[in-house]
Amino acid sequence: MAVLLRRLLQPGRPPAALGRSLGQREADLCTEPGATVRVRFAPSPTGFLHLGGLRTALYNYIFAKKHGGTFILRLEDTDQTRLVPGAAENIEDMLEWAGIPPDESPRRGGPAGPYLQSQRLELYAQAADALVRTGAAYPCFCSPQRLELLKKEALRNRQTPRYDNRCRNLSQRQVAQKLASDPKPAIRFRLDEEAPAFQDLVYGWNRHEVASVEGDPVVLKSDGFPTYHLACVVDDHHMGVSHVLRGSEWLVSTAKHLLLYRALGWPPPRFAHLPLLVNADGSKLSKRQGDLFLERFAAAGFLPDALLDMITNCGSGFAGTRSPDRSRRDHSREAPGLRPATNLTQDTLNAKLKKVSEGLDGTKHSHVMKLLRVVLSGQLQGPPVAEMMVSLGPNEVRERIQKVLCS
Ligand SMILES: [Zn+2]
Repeated sequence: MAVLLRRLLQPGRPPAALGRSLGQREADLCTEPGATVRVRFAPSPTGFLHLGGLRTALYNYIFAKKHGGTFILRLEDTDQTRLVPGAAENIEDMLEWAGIPPDESPRRGGPAGPYLQSQRLELYAQAADALVRTGAAYPCFCSPQRLELLKKEALRNRQTPRYDNRCRNLSQRQVAQKLASDPKPAIRFRLDEEAPAFQDLVYGWNRHEVASVEGDPVVLKSDGFPTYHLACVVDDHHMGVSHVLRGSEWLVSTAKHLLLYRALGWPPPRFAHLPLLVNADGSKLSKRQGDLFLERFAAAGFLPDALLDMITNCGSGFAGTRSPDRSRRDHSREAPGLRPATNLTQDTLNAKLKKVSEGLDGTKHSHVMKLLRVVLSGQLQGPPVAEMMVSLGPNEVRERIQKVLCS
């Protein structure tokens, strides 16, 4: 039994299944003394503000306030076809209602405006021009039909669709000829450099060799609007953003963004990717789930403070519980206010627990689960062990196991 429990605990760090704690060194990377902290919440007004968005905004707000910095609201409205009327106003209204108003925003203005991407097209065009001039980007004249065909062919061959970089090797003469009949080509960024590794403030060291799995991405569309990759890099640079705190779905794209910073000769900000709020079954919260919209909570009479309290503790993975014992608090984990959320579903935990059992020769998985149930709840029967572990959270699980080991 002790072997099993020790394996789950792995001395010196939390069980792997329960998330990775943030070390002092990573915490130190958070801010330099005297450095100006500027963070941004940058939603697309393609829907009203929902709980997931509020949580991302809240973490940015808390981070800015903790470091005496600035919290910026920027609206990424470059996909004009998906804009929802009233969403831009709703996002700002709801931030105000929740009590986490931005310092700079479309409504409040500020020194780094405009805060609507559709009003910053000139900046993206300038950056795209600079990239083309240095050869870091190139015009792509491929028709939508050709790109669609590539996609279909890849899917038919059970491969991941990717652009085949065809226009990369056009000669200057060919480009001039094509420009005569198609004066507004898309601009693609050349992904042929080794992506730099980076230390995410939540997830630790990361490296994604994007060039080996992706075709060159479009950074500026033929209609003059940027794609997310170029727009966020250009805006974060010009707005002096020091830390990018955004959803973990962008973790993989960060390598691409770092290559763009390098190609433009700009120092990159620090990155902290926030685990997403998920449904009980582990699926992503969707904007289509109307009951998650903030205005529903406001209309139903919820107090903003209650909502913020819930969101703060939702998958925060904070070292303490909701009523932390200050004398036992681990300050190395507190510095940036962030740790990886447990981000666990019962399924992932079950898989990890099975692995632990497999490593114990001659012990049945069912016996291991019985033992853990007793250790965690003192009961012989009850809810599934993984469900208990998710509800208890990593700290409580660790403490209960530790208690049995020490008895
Ligand atoms: Zn092309």
